[in-house]
Amino acid sequence: MMKEIIASEFEKEVLSSGKVILDFYSTECPPCEALASKFEDLSRLYGSDIKFLKIFRQQSRELAEKLGVKSSPTLLFFDNGIETGDRLTGGIKRSDIIRNLDKLISPAKAAEIKSGIKRSVSEYDVVILGAGPGGLTAGLYLCQAKINTVLIDIALPGGQVSTTHEVSNYPGFIQPQAGYMLSHSMSEQTKLCGTVYKVAVDVTGVDLDRKEVVIDEYETIRAKKIIIATGTTPNTTGASGERELKGKGISYCATCDAKYYDNKEVIVIGGGNSAVEEADYISRFASKITMVHQLDKFTANKKAQEKILSNSKVKVIYNSEPRAYIREGDKMVTEFENLINKKRERLVSDGIFIFIGMKPNIGLFRDKLELDRWSYIRTNEDMQTNLPDIFAVGDVTSKKYRQITTAVADGTIAAMAIAKELS
Ligand SMILES: Cc1cc2nc3c(=O)[nH]c(=O)nc-3n(C[C@H](O)[C@H](O)[C@H](O)COP(=O)(O)OP(=O)(O)OC[C@H]3O[C@@H](n4cnc5c(N)ncnc54)[C@H](O)[C@@H]3O)c2cc1C
Repeated sequence: MMKEIIASEFEKEVLSSGKVILDFYSTECPPCEALASKFEDLSRLYGSDIKFLKIFRQQSRELAEKLGVKSSPTLLFFDNGIETGDRLTGGIKRSDIIRNLDKLISPAKAAEIKSGIKRSVSEYDVVILGAGPGGLTAGLYLCQAKINTVLIDIALPGGQVSTTHEVSNYPGFIQPQAGYMLSHSMSEQTKLCGTVYKVAVDVTGVDLDRKEVVIDEYETIRAKKIIIATGTTPNTTGASGERELKGKGISYCATCDAKYYDNKEVIVIGGGNSAVEEADYISRFASKITMVHQLDKFTANKKAQEKILSNSKVKVIYNSEPRAYIREGDKMVTEFENLINKKRERLVSDGIFIFIGMKPNIGLFRDKLELDRWSYIRTNEDMQTNLPDIFAVGDVTSKKYRQITTAVADGTIAAMAIAKELS
C-alpha cells in the first residue's frame, strides 16, 4: 500500500496521478521515524483510495527546494496533480493526517473507512504517559516488580534527551554520551524487561477519574494507576527557522550545551531570571554574549541583573525581538527587529540560546490536577498527585531543578510507591 519514489518519478507518480499523500523524510530524524508507523498504519486503511508515497529528502534536495519543503518530515497532499489541504511538518499528529486524507475522499467513503476500524479495550496495572527518562525509569522499576505496565508516548521513546546532542552529566559513563544513544539504551532496557510500548500514537483522551487513556481514538487502555511523565516544551520565539535549527545551532539548555561554545560568540534571547542566570553561566565559556530582550530593561531579579550587566563579555540589545534564524555555513544569523523604530538588523554568532520559559505538557489533565502557579503538577514525596492513584514524575512536576537525574529519581520513587500499594 506504500511506495518509495525518487525525484525523477515525481511527475508520473504524483502530478499525473489522482489522490496522493507524499512524505518527505530524512534519516536521523526522530519525528520522521515517529511518523513512519502512522503512515504505514494509515496506508492500510486508506491505501485503496489514496496513493501513499515516500521520498528521501536528502536525495531529492532540488525537488524539495522547488516545492519549498524545508524540514523533515513534511507531508503533502495532492488531488489530480494539485497540492491541496495542509502541509504537515514536525511532530505530525495522526488526527491531522486523517483530517487531510478525509478531504481527498467523499464523506461516505471516509465514514466507511472509519467503520472498519475496530475499537479495543485493554487493561493494565499501570499506564505511564510519556517515555522520557522519568517514564522509562518508572517503566523499568514496575516491570522488574512484575507489574503489568504500558508506556504511551506521542513520539518515540527518549523524551528531550533523544534530541540533545551530548549528555556529559548522567552518572555511569566516563565519556559524554550522544543523547539519542543514552535514550536508546534507557528505552531498550525498559522494553527488554517486558514493558509494553505504544509509541508515536495520538493520545486522544485521558479520564483520570476512570483511569482510562484513549489512543488514536479507537483504543481504550484502563489501569489501576496512571503515571504522568509528559515533560515540558520550551517556549519558542516564533521566528522563522527556529524549528528547523533546534539542536542545530539553537539550544534551550545552557547546562547541556554552553560548554560547546568555548571561546565562541553566542546570542541569548530573553531577559527574565532564567535568561540572565543562564547567560551568566554561558559566559564561563563563550568569549562574547549578545542578549536580545524585548523590553527596555531585564525582568530578572536585581542581583542577577547587576551581575550580568557588569559582565564584560555581555552586551544587551533591548526593545528587540528575533524575526528569523538562518544558518550560513557554520555561523548562525539572527535577524531581529527593533520594536521602537521597526528597523531590522542581522547578528552573526556561533550559536543561539533561547530562554523565554518552558511550559509543562498538561493540556489533557489541567482541569483535574492541583498545579503550582506556573501550571506544573504538585505531588507529595511519593510523587502522588492530589488525585488517588494518579502520580506525576519528571519535568512536568512542580520542582526547582529539572534534569535527567531528577526525572529518573522521580520515576524510581513513583514506581516503588506503586509497587508497594499494588502488592
Ligand atoms: C536541548 C536540551 C538538552 C538537555 N540536556 C541535558 C543534559 O545534558 N543533562 C541533563 O541532566 N538534562 C538535560 N536536559 C533536561 C532533560 O532532558 C530533562 O530534564 C529530562 O528529559 C526530563 O525527563 P522527563 O521524562 O520528565 O520528560 P521529557 O524528557 O520531556 O519526556 C517527556 C515525554 O512525554 C511525551 N509526551 C508529551 N505529551 C504527552 C502526552 N500527552 N501523552 C503521552 N506522552 C506525551 C513526550 O513526547 C516525551 O517523550 C536537556 C533538555 C533540553 C531541552
